[in-house]
Parts: sequence; structure tokens; C-alpha cells
Amino acid sequence: MKEIILIKNGELALKGLNRRTFEDMLVKNMRRRLESAGKFKFTIAQSTIIAEPGNENVDMDEAIERVGKVFGIAGFSRAAAVEKDMETILRSAEEYLAPQLLGIRSFKVEAKRSDKKFPLTSPEICRETGGYLLRKFPHLIVDVHNPDLVVTVEIRDTHAYIHGNQIKGAGGMPTGSAGRAAVLISGGIDSPVAAYMMAKRGLELIAVHFASPPYTSERAEQKVHSLLRQVSKYSGRITLWVVPFTEIQELIKDNCPEDIFTVIMRRMMMRVSQIIATRDKAGALITGESVGQVASQTMPAIACTDAVCEMPVFRPLIGMDKDEVVAISRKIETFDISILPYEDCCTVFTPKHPKTKPTLDYVEECEKALDVDRLVEEAAKNARFVPISAY
Ligand code: ATP
Ligand code: MG
Repeated sequence: MKEIILIKNGELALKGLNRRTFEDMLVKNMRRRLESAGKFKFTIAQSTIIAEPGNENVDMDEAIERVGKVFGIAGFSRAAAVEKDMETILRSAEEYLAPQLLGIRSFKVEAKRSDKKFPLTSPEICRETGGYLLRKFPHLIVDVHNPDLVVTVEIRDTHAYIHGNQIKGAGGMPTGSAGRAAVLISGGIDSPVAAYMMAKRGLELIAVHFASPPYTSERAEQKVHSLLRQVSKYSGRITLWVVPFTEIQELIKDNCPEDIFTVIMRRMMMRVSQIIATRDKAGALITGESVGQVASQTMPAIACTDAVCEMPVFRPLIGMDKDEVVAISRKIETFDISILPYEDCCTVFTPKHPKTKPTLDYVEECEKALDVDRLVEEAAKNARFVPISAY
């Protein structure tokens, strides 16, 4: 029996005139994401996308798992595609859904008939299919309000499709539909979650990571690659820029008061990231900051950081508790990577008594000890390119 994937668009169905563009973008993303799971043919019809295997060598389990991580999809179903003939539909439903029907108690049938030439109406299809399944699986009862399984029969252009419960999709908007942004990625728990959340809103990601060898190790950078590879299962390919940050950190340490170290470091990160973002046509920065979490994330500290930013800074975790962030990081499977021990450049130079209420005047005064423009430009110029892709 031929199996296909029936994909229901998410929010993008609301986009009216732009719908077609969004659907095309979604298909393009899915095509790329499914590439190494096998060849698929995509058809768009009435806010449903049908992904049909192009040959026998398709790994459907793998494909289903990947579709579940593509943004812009509300729900999807693995379905049997059969001839549009009631006899065939009944026998196929029995055979295809047997493994599911045997394990449950109640069901109902829903029918969708977009091919109005089909001889039976939707209620007739439901009645016939329900009656047939009840005869074949006598342990079942029909429950129209709260069934264990909803059996759906969809009569469309070329085939009838039969499937069980719909699987929840990743939601959000197709990657790229909202433009491109640069995420400042550390090896921590927060920034990968922030990256995921903004990619969900349709942003294509580039990433910037600051490394301070020999204070930070090669393994710390590998950890960032692993984190981004996991995020890229949702966001699609990510361009990573690894910025050499040792000189800047040493200069701040040697020339600025210790209590303001972190705020100056953050401002330097933002400046460098902005240059890289602009160079890569990204229109915003993304960080994993959350108010009050650490000294550099108090409101006055964030104000000092924002003072050097000309592009918008998206902080999707700003109002979240740590346990809420952890829950998402477990869901997207970055948590176990994030808690690996390797040092980040922030922890290496953390001051003992950071100022929690820095003023902009004070920070700007302290920064005069540095040749900010030269340092920032050099760091951006010396950033190393690492392409990241999960598949
Ligand atoms: P995370 O868990 O993301 O590391 P955090 O709670 O440890 O966050 P900080 O270390 O203060 O907080 O970092 C705040 C944000 O600054 C991070 O979420 C990230 O966006 C950015 N950041 C921190 N360190 C780096 C780094 N080495 N390279 C790039 N960005 C960084
Ligand atoms: Mg951190």
C-alpha cells in the first residue's frame, strides 16, 4: 500500500494573498530537510501539502520525524493513498489501520470530500466505513465525542487518503519567511533555546560564537557546533561565525575596572555581532538573556548593552524562569549537550563583585581605555566560518 504524508499548514493559512509564497517556502524547506531521507514529490492543494515518496528507498520513519520539526506546519498525518473506490477504501482502512485499531476501544470516522464527483457524500462515507470497521473489529465502539482514534477518509483529486490521528506539527512560520537574524550562541542552556524560539517565528539563523583560546578549549567550540546542529534540525542550515575574543578579553581585564568587565564584554560582543550580521544581511540580533538572571542581565546592565546596538535585539527568554527554559531545552534535545562542562569565555573572566546597576556614563568612561573601533573591526574580520547542518 502506498504511503504518503499529508501536511496541514499552520498560521500561514491566515496570510491571505501571501499564502502561496509561504507555502512555496514551506515546500522548499521540507524538500531540503527531507533530501537525505529519500526523494519526495510535493503537491499543494487546499491548504494541504502532500509529500509523496518518489521511489522505494524512502525511509518513512525518518521522514516523519523530520517533518515534525519543520516550522510552519500545524499538523500532519502518515496516510495510505488508495484508489477512489469504496470497496478499496474499506479494505485498505481495515488493513492499514489494524495495528492502531487493535490497541484501542473507541473510534469515529471523519470524511472529507473535496472531489465532489465521488458518488458517496461525506456522511455516507462515514457510515459505511464505521459500519465496516465495527464488523471487522468487534471489540470497538463508536464514540463521536471522545474517541481514542479518529479515522479520516479524504477523497481528493487523484486518490483517497486514509489515516488515523493527526500528529501535532512544530507550529510557527516557515524558516526564512521573517528574514534573517544573528544569534549570539554560547555553550549554555539559554541561547540555543532563544535560537529555536526565533527560528520558530520564521527567522533564518546565522550564529556568532566568541571563543577565547587558550582559556576556552577546542571542545567548548565543538559543543557549540553540536548545539547548533541540534537547533538546525528545526531551523535548517545555520552559518556559524567563530570570533577570536582572547585579545579583547585580556585588554578589558588589564585596562578596565573589574566590576564593569562583564558589561563591557557584552557591549563588545554586540558590536562585533552587528558587523557580522550586517555583512550577512541579517536584520536583528538574538540573545538568551532573561531579566535578573545574572549581574549582566539586570535592567541597567541591559540598557548599557543596548546602547551600542543599532539593530533590534530579540530576547525571547526575557520574561521566562529558568525551569521554563530548561523544559524547552529538554524538548528540543539541547539540554544534555548544554550541561557538558566545558568553559565559556564569559565564565573564564567573571568578576567577583560585578556592578548590578552600571550607568552608561561610567561604562563609556571605562571603555575609553580601549581602542574599541579597531578591536571590533579586527575581531569581525578574523571570524572563522563554520557551516552547520544536521543532515
Ligand atoms: P547561556 O545559557 O545562553 O550561556 P547565560 O544565562 O549563561 O546564557 P550569559 O552568560 O550572561 O547568560 O550570556 C547571556 C547571553 O549572551 C547568552 O544567552 C548569549 O546569547 C550571549 N553569549 C554569552 N556568551 C557568549 C559567547 N561566548 N558567544 C556568543 N554569545 C554569547
Ligand atoms: Mg552563558
